[in-house]
Amino acid sequence: MRQLILLIALAAGAAAQIQEISGERIRAHVKFLASDLLEGRGVGTRGGDLATAYLASQLALVGAKPAGDNGTYFQKVPLIGVEPMPDARFSAERNGKTASFRWLSDFVGSDYRQRPVDEFDAEAVFVGHGIVAPEFRWDDFKGADVRGKVIVLFTNEPASSDPKFFGGRALTYYGRWTYKFEQAARAGALAALIIHTTPTAGYGWQVVRNSWGGEEPYVKLQPGQQDLAFAGWVTEEAGERLLSLAGKTVAELLKASESREFKPIPLGVRIRGRIQSKIRDISTANVTAIIPGSDPALASEAVIFSAHWDHLGVGAPVDGDSIYNGAVDNATGCAMLIEIARLWASLEQKPRRSALFLLVTAEEGGLRGSEFYARHPLFPPGKTAVALNVDAILPFGRTTDVVVNGAERTTFWPQVQEAAARMNLVIRPDPRPEQGSFYRSDHFPFAQAGIPSFTVDEGDQYAGKPEGYGEKLFEEYNARHYHQPSDEYRDDWDMSGMEQVARFVFLLGQSAANLDKLPTWNPGDEFLAARVKSGVK
Ligand SMILES: [Zn+2]
Repeated sequence: MRQLILLIALAAGAAAQIQEISGERIRAHVKFLASDLLEGRGVGTRGGDLATAYLASQLALVGAKPAGDNGTYFQKVPLIGVEPMPDARFSAERNGKTASFRWLSDFVGSDYRQRPVDEFDAEAVFVGHGIVAPEFRWDDFKGADVRGKVIVLFTNEPASSDPKFFGGRALTYYGRWTYKFEQAARAGALAALIIHTTPTAGYGWQVVRNSWGGEEPYVKLQPGQQDLAFAGWVTEEAGERLLSLAGKTVAELLKASESREFKPIPLGVRIRGRIQSKIRDISTANVTAIIPGSDPALASEAVIFSAHWDHLGVGAPVDGDSIYNGAVDNATGCAMLIEIARLWASLEQKPRRSALFLLVTAEEGGLRGSEFYARHPLFPPGKTAVALNVDAILPFGRTTDVVVNGAERTTFWPQVQEAAARMNLVIRPDPRPEQGSFYRSDHFPFAQAGIPSFTVDEGDQYAGKPEGYGEKLFEEYNARHYHQPSDEYRDDWDMSGMEQVARFVFLLGQSAANLDKLPTWNPGDEFLAARVKSGVK
């Protein structure tokens, strides 16, 4: 009974505390971070440096301590920019017959070895979906030696309606193109070529072309670290031309790839390529601060709050405006984290575990800042309770629901449900699981390291609005402002939705920080396996 009264008192205390989180304070941060002065917060630009300096100052002002390099608020992230030059080319040859491929119209890609000039000349092997997934008894390689070869494959994964087999309709990580290139490098391949089809990729060639046509930032390779000389995509038409040299077709090989009995097919084709790239060092940083936990036994463990600070900088003008302000994406998440840190630091009785605030860089360039953190963690995965990410909250007011994709796969799920219930929020399932959005946000590199992690998003049921209203707002933002110069702050923004999500994230963090036992991914989950692989018990 006494314990029950204590629990009720604690709950009431928490309810009063979260009222302190203020949408108007969040507004002030967003307004500055998204202003033209910051020139779109590009990575490795003056505007980006101004943003990180501002965030560090704000974290200091609320009383959070530096957690970065040498007593600073910055964890330096050395990146390499790799920009393929338009004269990149490759060809395929068999028995004197040759097919040549042109940059952008036939293929795109990047030199993962980060060299100014790179060449490859090797046998091609078709490896289906390129997946090795023992838990689904699936192995596309079947022990074939692809070292030093060019593997040719499709993205996505075997079709399934059974949730126990490759996640059913939802995409698992095995289906993402990032996995394909990682697995190719693990298998020792020299290069990897994904044959694009719209159904397997989930989007058209235009999207592939636009996202691979320019500079990509990468975490610098360690000395001696192996990677692909070329990680690329070819159009379906170019794929047909390549496969026809071996007497095969795209349709035929797509079908073969759906079978568990699939074995790699040596194509008898030699692939030669020469890729020139402009290489530059990019100096950037994650901004990070800590508020130590109150329990001496648990203060060496942490809850992570993350949000990316970077956006696209200055780019191609649209209607005369070339500053990509990134107000929603993601000045909002940064502002919310500062406000959460302010409340956390002001608590008289701090939660038991420490809170780590992590404003990561280079999300737009492929989750590089969070990837770097996962490789150089300030708290090892086995000492991290949960990582809660916030990215791009819309300024249209309060919803009656929230989205927490992935939380249901962790042992933290009951606490997530409890926090939602406490705030009268309905948890809405992922509306588009086949898009694999779970694998495209900053919590994902943390998950790959075995840390229970997910992104917290507002739902789309706006209080007092008809069904479909939220979806329409989202579609409108997506079509007219997402990744465009018009993603700007406006004084008529309704901050109550961000205020609500920040309060919810605070509750989640507080609950994780006070749990007796560290949460984990559920038994059998792909990320629990990741944690075992990374050596964490
Ligand atoms: Zn973005």
